[in-house]
Amino acid sequence: MKVLVINCGSSSLKYQLIDMNTEESIAQGLVERIGIEGSVLTQKVEGREKYIIKQPMKDHKVAIQLVLGALVDKENGVISSMDEISAVGHRVVHGGEKFKSSVVINEEVKEYIRECFKLAPLHNPANMIGIEACEELMPNVPMVAVFDNAFHSTMPEKAYLYALPYELYTKHGIRKYGFHGTSHKYVSQKAAELLGKDIKDLKIITCHLGNGSSVTAVKGGVSIDTSMGFTPLEGLAMGTRSGNIDPAIIPFLMKEEGLTIEEVDNLLNKKSGVLGISGISSDFRDIEDAAFKEGVHRAQLALDIFEYKVKATIGAYAAIMGGVDAIVFTAGVGENGPESREGILKGLEFLGVEIDTEKNKVRGKVREISKEGSKVKAFVIPTNEELVIARDTVELISK
Ligand code: AMP
Repeated sequence: MKVLVINCGSSSLKYQLIDMNTEESIAQGLVERIGIEGSVLTQKVEGREKYIIKQPMKDHKVAIQLVLGALVDKENGVISSMDEISAVGHRVVHGGEKFKSSVVINEEVKEYIRECFKLAPLHNPANMIGIEACEELMPNVPMVAVFDNAFHSTMPEKAYLYALPYELYTKHGIRKYGFHGTSHKYVSQKAAELLGKDIKDLKIITCHLGNGSSVTAVKGGVSIDTSMGFTPLEGLAMGTRSGNIDPAIIPFLMKEEGLTIEEVDNLLNKKSGVLGISGISSDFRDIEDAAFKEGVHRAQLALDIFEYKVKATIGAYAAIMGGVDAIVFTAGVGENGPESREGILKGLEFLGVEIDTEKNKVRGKVREISKEGSKVKAFVIPTNEELVIARDTVELISK
């Protein structure tokens, strides 16, 4: 059985076709600049040259049409007909409080995803466009929605409620939701597998560190707290997002800098984080180059602040779980940044974790990076959100 996984952004679309008999990726691709000049589709198939299509794509429907065309293309494709696609799994960022797990998409589900637009105004509308475009192009193929926050629906009230007037929760749904759920779920399960233990008996801290970053406390296989909140702005310092700040800074900025709400929102989401501190880039590779090769102070400071906040969150989550058995690193920086991992784990020996700096010299591969005998194990585990989406899709359509 082959499942197509679609992750639709506002102007981009990632896709992957997965053979669920082997759980291997058959083809993966990225469409960029949808609806803007310079639209391009890039498809990768192992052992082949990249297949690139450059042509105007006025909307997501045109983009998905091209994706399907690229998959069945006689020369560059991987399947002979669209009939080989048994189901489509869609990543949906926000499922509010209603969806605690993935669901088969029907009219009611779509209506609720629309209701959640106000909770994820940048993401859910794009996800919905992707769903509707696929429905039009593949009317008889079952589709499943996999929500980014569903894995965190197990958080207890004391973790997800903010100390605000309670009515704001009941009226507007203001609470912590958490994100990157499919990633935290995948890597925590993989860590349990590597430890050869039942996840129900484990306390795992998963660090998804990329352009957006979050840390999750996974106790007994379920999320009991996570660092992102009502929106993906809360928590750690990220590529361009501030993470936690004193909320009083917002009215202060509005008064002293004369900023509008939109401008403050833009400042916190797009101009802050390691970009804001370094003044160089949101990309850790650029910041590391500036810090390590040129000794730029603000670049080093950005890295220090990033690591400090991850370290502090690990400490907090070890406290709420009453200990920790494993710490996992994943996503762009987590998988590819040995210096960041070392900066985060150094100093946490008191928790029982000892990093092996030699083993830590690894990028993008599953590996234990703690010393032999380290009480708490540390791992690098490349995330595979697409596989989680495809697994959920198969499970639901088989019912
Ligand atoms: P993601 O959002 O998970 O795709 O992560 C993207 C981020 O990963 C980029 O902004 C980079 O900062 C970081 N990254 C990717 N490759 C490397 C690398 N080789 N070394 C350090 N950071 C990297």
